[in-house]
Amino acid sequence: MSFRSTITLAQIEVFPIRATGGVSPKMALGTMPTRPALLVRVTDDQGCFGWGEVWANFPPRANIHKAHIIEDVVAAHLTGLSFTDPREVQEALRAKLSVFFLHIGQARVFEHILAGLDTALWDLALRASGESFAAFMGLPSASSRSYATSINASDLETLIPRHSGLGQTHFKLKIGFAEHGNAEIVERAARLCPLGARIMVDSNQSWSLDEAKASLHAIEPFDPYFAEECLRADAPASEWEDLARSTDIALAGGENIYGIADFLTMTRAGMRVLQPDVAKWGGVSGALDLAAQVPEDVMIWPHFMGSAVGQIAALSISAAVGRNSACEVDVNENALRTELCGDVIRIESGCVALPEAPGLVVPPSPDALDRFAEPPA
Ligand SMILES: [Mg+2]
Repeated sequence: MSFRSTITLAQIEVFPIRATGGVSPKMALGTMPTRPALLVRVTDDQGCFGWGEVWANFPPRANIHKAHIIEDVVAAHLTGLSFTDPREVQEALRAKLSVFFLHIGQARVFEHILAGLDTALWDLALRASGESFAAFMGLPSASSRSYATSINASDLETLIPRHSGLGQTHFKLKIGFAEHGNAEIVERAARLCPLGARIMVDSNQSWSLDEAKASLHAIEPFDPYFAEECLRADAPASEWEDLARSTDIALAGGENIYGIADFLTMTRAGMRVLQPDVAKWGGVSGALDLAAQVPEDVMIWPHFMGSAVGQIAALSISAAVGRNSACEVDVNENALRTELCGDVIRIESGCVALPEAPGLVVPPSPDALDRFAEPPA
């Protein structure tokens, strides 16, 4: 499981894209009127290529902002760079550019860029070596468990039966919005679930410690599998410890946690389910390195909300982690997930097959890239 050939980078290109229509998951930050995304393509001096996705769900033009930063700041440091393992590129760029991003107050944006770039480098390195991710990692099966996520309270009756029909057994609900009663939503969902299925809840950092304690207490009778982002990611460890002691429900989080040290701090504070986002922190390398370091009783269930490119990377991580991992797949209509790379996120018996061709992800089709391209400013 180590790369052997040295690759020299020749070019990085950015593809800010956007899908309109579809259905918006309700988010704590607001609704998503359209679905923006940012793809990157790296090419080596032999003409081999790799695709990755940089997190850009929000705000609405985050994809354009991050594309400009890659072109204006990062690209010049990538061309001509040689590497064998994608981790070397993250290290080299951190050494050269972390002070720059600290200075401009966008250290997290730098992490998003590094994450997307790492995915593209894995895709490139695997394609160059002629191996699929599953073959390279020696996985027993080229398939990833998935779970249904971002189910709005208004859609429970439609989406839970539909996804049960696809063999999914875990359903994550958006709760925490004041106009719905949290316990009522969970109770309704529990009634719709097939026997043995489990509900999870996501309150998107919207609760205080007291609200979190009360809300989790109210839904304990429904035995949720985990509760995601019950507190702010930057809440003091003492609050996380306090909350973990107060409930039997496993606490989850990770889409707003950066770096292995911070993830491990959260496990010591009682977090039982870690959810790194492949497009936000660390890319594929970061998630695999994290998985190698977490205690045995801590689960890794990758977070993801974006296009098919990052979704395949996130599913691949889950497959590599194995041991009771599953990757979230948004239930809401989004053409960037279902049309950009063809029909690659097909859920059967709750699982998604990973690509068999060399590489990590399935490249977007040129037609779809044109169709979803941001209009020039
Ligand atoms: Mg979440």
